[in-house]
Amino acid sequence: MSDTEGTSASPADRVLDTTLRDGEQSPRTSFSYEDKREIAAVLDDMGTHVIEAGFPVNSDAEFEAVRDIAEATSTTTCGLARVVEKDVDAALDSGVELVHVFVSTSDVQLEDSMHATREQAKERAVRSVERIKEAGVECMFSPMDATRTDEAFLLEVIDAVTEAGTDWVNIPDTCGVATPGRFRDMIAKVVDRTDARIDVHTHDDFGLAAANALSGFEAGGAQAQVSVNGIGERAGNAAYEEVVMALESLYDVDTGIDTTRITEISRTIEGKSDIPVPANKPVVGRNAFSHESGIHAAGVIENSDTFEPGVMTPEMVGAERELVLGKHTGQHSVRERLLEVLEEFARDADVDREVENEEVRA
Ligand code: MN
Repeated sequence: MSDTEGTSASPADRVLDTTLRDGEQSPRTSFSYEDKREIAAVLDDMGTHVIEAGFPVNSDAEFEAVRDIAEATSTTTCGLARVVEKDVDAALDSGVELVHVFVSTSDVQLEDSMHATREQAKERAVRSVERIKEAGVECMFSPMDATRTDEAFLLEVIDAVTEAGTDWVNIPDTCGVATPGRFRDMIAKVVDRTDARIDVHTHDDFGLAAANALSGFEAGGAQAQVSVNGIGERAGNAAYEEVVMALESLYDVDTGIDTTRITEISRTIEGKSDIPVPANKPVVGRNAFSHESGIHAAGVIENSDTFEPGVMTPEMVGAERELVLGKHTGQHSVRERLLEVLEEFARDADVDREVENEEVRA
């Protein structure tokens, strides 16, 4: 069976990295100005399609970081704004190439977070999109909490912002309640409804963020929002490394991203966010390419495709395969490790010197 059967991911599939925005909204995480510049520079070098650099209206420090990232990077930089003039103006003034404007559309958020009516939300959305387009800047509109929004109203808002000229409509699964099948149907309906390009923003409350993001592509979405190590509000966002490697390895999409720096950026974000990466985390966990059990290790020594995906290798993500010696180890791993030790001796030790038994035991 082919892994790509029945899917329609296209070679134009893109990612918007929101490590510096939603990622920084992780509880207890804060990036310094220097951190942000460094992270943005690596994401830019890797060929990330869009970098959401922050929420310019938040503070002067945030504004300056977004402005300087927009200036320094060659990729598209995006700034977030609520549907209010001062937010939109701060984003426009920061010099980002894409303004991402959002408003709640679900009744629960309209009533108990925004304290606005459906009609007010729609009017403010339209005015904000018009303001961004009048400034000649690319616009992305998000109906926040789309997956818990009354469908008729959601489509009404999408029609209105399409009419106002938005370039992108993002469908956010703000509280992580979508399932891959339901989300795929929803995105397909939105793709049919608007000429704007579709982007998706998914959350990992049920461990479905990457699956839902990929459903978005399958339904004709053009872009998914991701964050490195999946950091973000609550259980986080779709992980950059998971979505990009699934596109590359399972959907046969050439994203143009330099995947060999994925492990490096993951370690950087782990350090700067102070959120440890679990050992069994896909792609970037320290066990992602490690083998201990006898059968698996013996197979991998002969041909790594036996017990690894094959279509994704440690080399592709800048990681190394590891054979771990432990309770489940078989003789193949031990032999392999001894050969490595022997090679190290040959390299490091004085060739003429005899190796002491003590050293072998060590
Ligand atoms: Mn979010």
